[in-house]
Amino acid sequence: MLRQRRWTPLPVPFFTQSATFSRLWPVTRHHVEDVVENGKYSHGRKVVELERALAEYTGARHVIGVNSGTDALVLLLRACGLGAGDEVVVPAFSFAATATSVVLAGGTPVFADVEPDGYGISPASVAAVATPRTRFVMPTHLFHHTADLTGVREVADRLGLAVVEDSAEAIGMRYGGRHAGLHGFGGVLSFFPTKTLGALGDAGAVITDDPRVAEVVSALRHHGRPGPTADNFPAINTATALPGVNSKMDDVQAAVLLAKLGRLEQDIRRRAELAARYTARLTGVPGVRKLPEVLPRAEAVRGVAYVYVAEFARRDELAEHLAARGVGTETYYPLPLHLQPCFAHLGHAPGDFPNAEAACAHALALPLYPDLAEEQVDRVCAEIRDFYAASDLHLSAPAANRGSRR
Ligand SMILES: *Cc1c(COP(=O)(O)O)cnc(C)c1O
Repeated sequence: MLRQRRWTPLPVPFFTQSATFSRLWPVTRHHVEDVVENGKYSHGRKVVELERALAEYTGARHVIGVNSGTDALVLLLRACGLGAGDEVVVPAFSFAATATSVVLAGGTPVFADVEPDGYGISPASVAAVATPRTRFVMPTHLFHHTADLTGVREVADRLGLAVVEDSAEAIGMRYGGRHAGLHGFGGVLSFFPTKTLGALGDAGAVITDDPRVAEVVSALRHHGRPGPTADNFPAINTATALPGVNSKMDDVQAAVLLAKLGRLEQDIRRRAELAARYTARLTGVPGVRKLPEVLPRAEAVRGVAYVYVAEFARRDELAEHLAARGVGTETYYPLPLHLQPCFAHLGHAPGDFPNAEAACAHALALPLYPDLAEEQVDRVCAEIRDFYAASDLHLSAPAANRGSRR
């Protein structure tokens, strides 16, 4: 068996957490048994326990558990008072929910470009696209570190905009010593399985220091009813004050997340080691156009290697080459938000946000999770080197790259 492995290398899946879960199973089982005994399986005591633990971890005054990062964004925007016709400036390069949440909350997204040297919203572009109807700016903290929150704050103050953050990917990231999501009205966390703190299904949270935002979000997630609080269980027959939704968090997911939160810092260190290994092995490889800056940019600005996204010439062919050799990758993100079919009515065209479009054309996420082994990183890097060594295209000429997109 072992000898065979040497000749046919094991696949490197894009994502798995099975080893993490076997290691954590005793702690997880303890929390799940607690849930079973409590007898309330949705929006119960385990959720409150997780909210408290996350408040301690992030430093947020209020953490409100919901059933996904997407719902967290929608409810946060509603609680901040977003109304019909209000505009929210969002980056053109992000996950779809960054912009669709604005629509679902009753507003209109306005796109801005991202910075050329990173994936955060460009403050200069925010100033260029804002209109008199713009009320919010939503920086998004993608992949490795937060957006330039000093620049965002400056432009927001100048234009009179409120800041809300799509910090869905940003657990553990800090800027100016403060956790991502706590630099304006509030932010969100996603616990989708592949995220840095991933559940065994969907879950999310709103984090905020603002008590009014917290109160409205906690009512909206539960049919517009207040509760539960530690001394208000089960909070089922209270009056409906607002047209809310059912976005309660499952207690079983809260149990899983509590078990994993205990080793989050360790996982973050492991991710940083693996990311540094990728960077060391990919530096100088022809065809590699851009490697992420995963280390902190300055004191008190802490990045977290949630994924390892680098930019490559002939990205789609590289992804196919890797897939054929058993290496999983993902394209984060294949299409910029301003060119998504659901925003066709906004009238954008290719070329409107060149930095976002360039990122969509070249960015590829390589496998990165605490269970990944050093040898697997080395194998992925060797396959990438092989791909470019076997190619005779003029990689340095950008025009040669264009035709490779499918
Ligand atoms: C994952 C993610 C979301 C949505 O979170 P879900 O829990 O999957 O709904 C929103 N924004 C960004 C940037 C994300 O990465």
